[in-house]
Amino acid sequence: MAKLLVTGGAGFIGSNFIHYWLSKYPKDSIVNLDKLTYAGHPENLLSLKRNPRYSFIRGDITNKSDVNLALKNVDIVVHFAAESHVDRSIEDPMIFAKTNVLGTCVLLDACLRYGRKRFHHVSTDEVFGELGPSDIPFNEKTPLNPRSPYAASKAGSDLMVKTYYTAYGLPVTITNCANNYGPYQDTEKLIPRFITRVLRHKKVPLMSQGENIRSWLAVIDHCRAIDTVLKKGKIGEGYCVGGEEKTNLEITLNILKILGKDKSWIDFVGNRAVNDFRYAIDDSKIRKLGWKPKHDFERWLTDTVNWYKKNEWWWKKPSIKQALIDFKNSFLGND
Ligand code: NAD
Repeated sequence: MAKLLVTGGAGFIGSNFIHYWLSKYPKDSIVNLDKLTYAGHPENLLSLKRNPRYSFIRGDITNKSDVNLALKNVDIVVHFAAESHVDRSIEDPMIFAKTNVLGTCVLLDACLRYGRKRFHHVSTDEVFGELGPSDIPFNEKTPLNPRSPYAASKAGSDLMVKTYYTAYGLPVTITNCANNYGPYQDTEKLIPRFITRVLRHKKVPLMSQGENIRSWLAVIDHCRAIDTVLKKGKIGEGYCVGGEEKTNLEITLNILKILGKDKSWIDFVGNRAVNDFRYAIDDSKIRKLGWKPKHDFERWLTDTVNWYKKNEWWWKKPSIKQALIDFKNSFLGND
């Protein structure tokens, strides 16, 4: 019987993780610490409202007293909270440094002071930079080479987590994961953005010719990977978590096909200043712990499209708010 603190649990991956964990471990409980920024959607957890094993604290990971309150009687911290959008980081890097680096540091420090809590840090493959078409995939030994303020802030947080292990012996682990897709993802990100645009009878804006390559993993497989590392991972170590490599054009054509549309629904638009060409991951280290992805890309993309079709209430905002979001999105890119 364990009590977990999940940070950023009202976001995309955090909320999927909370549902996954509470249904898999019926004796465990979770406290969710989330600031509810624009990316936090408490409605993701509506079904847990009366669940005695779930509680919510609205608070900021950069605020020591919020963190101390949330850590009470907690055994394990799973840290998702972050500013997570690359384009926003290019426009306003400061909040990324504050939340992702300072916020992680505040959490680590509190974990050290309140009884050396087990700490798992959720990070990204973007910390490794970009690959060329024939480069070998990223692995745990790949040097950090971030190319956007988002990636730099996550790399900074990864380094801070590692030093709390080497300097103070805090029991930490890290996962660096590929792009995720699935339910409850904010419509500013590529897959839900394109799905919901087509559902609103609008074309999808694809950068350049859609040649950039990303590695994609169903969010539930990411939750399973974190579970595996929490149970079997070696303290002080990082694990790369991979998915299937696809060009952005392939992803777009897949979405259009599922929705019964053709290529004419694509608007090819200009590229942004920093757009890493390729991410790919060698996940043989975590596979040795017994993890591998279970969810087939085509089927899970179809399920994701169907989820957005069925849950218009979740993403359809009142018209003025939607117009503002569309205006904002017209300046944002494909990550
Ligand atoms: P998200 O943007 O959907 O959610 C982030 C959550 O953090 C939101 O609920 C937000 O309210 C909360 N938050 C932001 N600032 C906070 C603060 N100061 N204090 C408390 N809460 C705060 O993000 P996501 O896509 O779910 O990503 C979660 C984590 O996984 C991030 O650390 C991200 O870097 C990492 N990651 C994401 C992906 C992906 O494909 N989405 C892939 C690999 C790693």
